[in-house]
Amino acid sequence: MSRKRLRWTRSAFLLVAAAISATSAGAQRASAHPDSAHRAVFKELIELNTSPDGGQVSAASRAVARRLKAVGYAAADVQVVGPNAQCLNLVATLRGKDRNAKPVLLMAHLDVVNARRADWVHDPFVLREGEGFFYGRGSLDNKAGASVIVANMVQWKRERFVPVSDVIMVLTCDEETSATNGIQWLLKNVPRLKTAAYALNTDAGGVTVTEAGRHIFELQAAEKTYVSFELTASNPGGHSSVPRPDNAIYALAAALGRVAAHRFPVQYNEVTRTSYARGADFETGQLADDMRAAGRGETSGPAIERLLASPYQGAGLHTTCVATMLRGGHAENALPQSATATVNCRMMPGTDAEQVRQTLIGAAADTSIVVKLIYPPTPSGASPLLPEVMRVVETLSAETWAGSVVVPGMSNGATDGLYLRNVGVPVLGVAAIAMLPADERAHGLDEKVPVKSLYQSRVFWDKMVKNLMSPPAKPVS
Ligand SMILES: [Zn+2]
Repeated sequence: MSRKRLRWTRSAFLLVAAAISATSAGAQRASAHPDSAHRAVFKELIELNTSPDGGQVSAASRAVARRLKAVGYAAADVQVVGPNAQCLNLVATLRGKDRNAKPVLLMAHLDVVNARRADWVHDPFVLREGEGFFYGRGSLDNKAGASVIVANMVQWKRERFVPVSDVIMVLTCDEETSATNGIQWLLKNVPRLKTAAYALNTDAGGVTVTEAGRHIFELQAAEKTYVSFELTASNPGGHSSVPRPDNAIYALAAALGRVAAHRFPVQYNEVTRTSYARGADFETGQLADDMRAAGRGETSGPAIERLLASPYQGAGLHTTCVATMLRGGHAENALPQSATATVNCRMMPGTDAEQVRQTLIGAAADTSIVVKLIYPPTPSGASPLLPEVMRVVETLSAETWAGSVVVPGMSNGATDGLYLRNVGVPVLGVAAIAMLPADERAHGLDEKVPVKSLYQSRVFWDKMVKNLMSPPAKPVS
């Protein structure tokens, strides 16, 4: 990290914060209330059907580009780019004081997963507000985040906010599918993105409201790597009226039993250790004690055994592999000539897929079974917990949700962030949307986001970016 670190003394922090809120108040009087301006951006995004079936993701990029140009962004700073007309991304730059300094990226994706109108209570592509929620496909994943960045980019231009270095908004077109035309294409074709000091991602990290009403600010700093293998047993087959002891289905089934029994070793990184240590404060009794043991980096013993026995707690401790699909045989009355299982693994950051393949071969313990990597994974390491970002996020989290604690975490799933981590750009997921776990419906039916939390996230991102990207305050004389 060569970007100059902003060193916040408490008084400098307050000074700049006061200066910022004074500017915002002035600008707000001149235009619509920031919440209604935000709502308009959000509504426009929700009502463009950017699912694979809807095909309007490029239209969404163009709509955002129009908004930015309308408030004064130069055409050269608003790029609508992609490999084809169906998948155009948006890359927009708020110019900073020092154009040679490393930029900071703000990330979201514009595409959403399909939604069947017949299955939803209301049209998923019409914004509906009720019971304190906004409903619509993408209302949480990830049009909430996209609207938060867009509304702020518009507001910052209106306020004439000039960050210390360039702030680049990156909205991608295919995060939910292959990510090849979105982030991967951008990293090849917009080389400046790879030079970023770090990226802040709206597509990960959230604020979990516990039953006791406490707030856990999850900051995503690592992702497990997704990789799948096929295990295939082959056999000459024959007539099912004359069974033999060797049988492709039995061989595969037995090998899968051994794979199921295999356990990958416990391993940690800075993110997961901190996650267990801080997360322990939100639990009680045995679980809290066990999580503290993980926080100390213990790799075995009764505490670790108890954590591994819990699917959710255990997944964060090691690489996991599980059988997810099965096919075999070709006729009801024939001995199977082949049987194949798909085994999906989630590797700990820094793990090599070939090592995992060798481990599966060893666990299967049957040399006649072929273990094949289905397609090469994209590895991604854990991002460093950048002290300047952590400090700002912790301060703002405590200010926004009294008594909240920032807990860095590793997701078991993946986002565009992994491709940036893979080229050496640290990515921190800080969606900052507060909700009860029970209200979480990303990719599901009647997806929703709390209205208050959406607006709160915009304010959080406004303060976060300004605190990180404002020039250091002059010392008080
Ligand atoms: Zn997403």
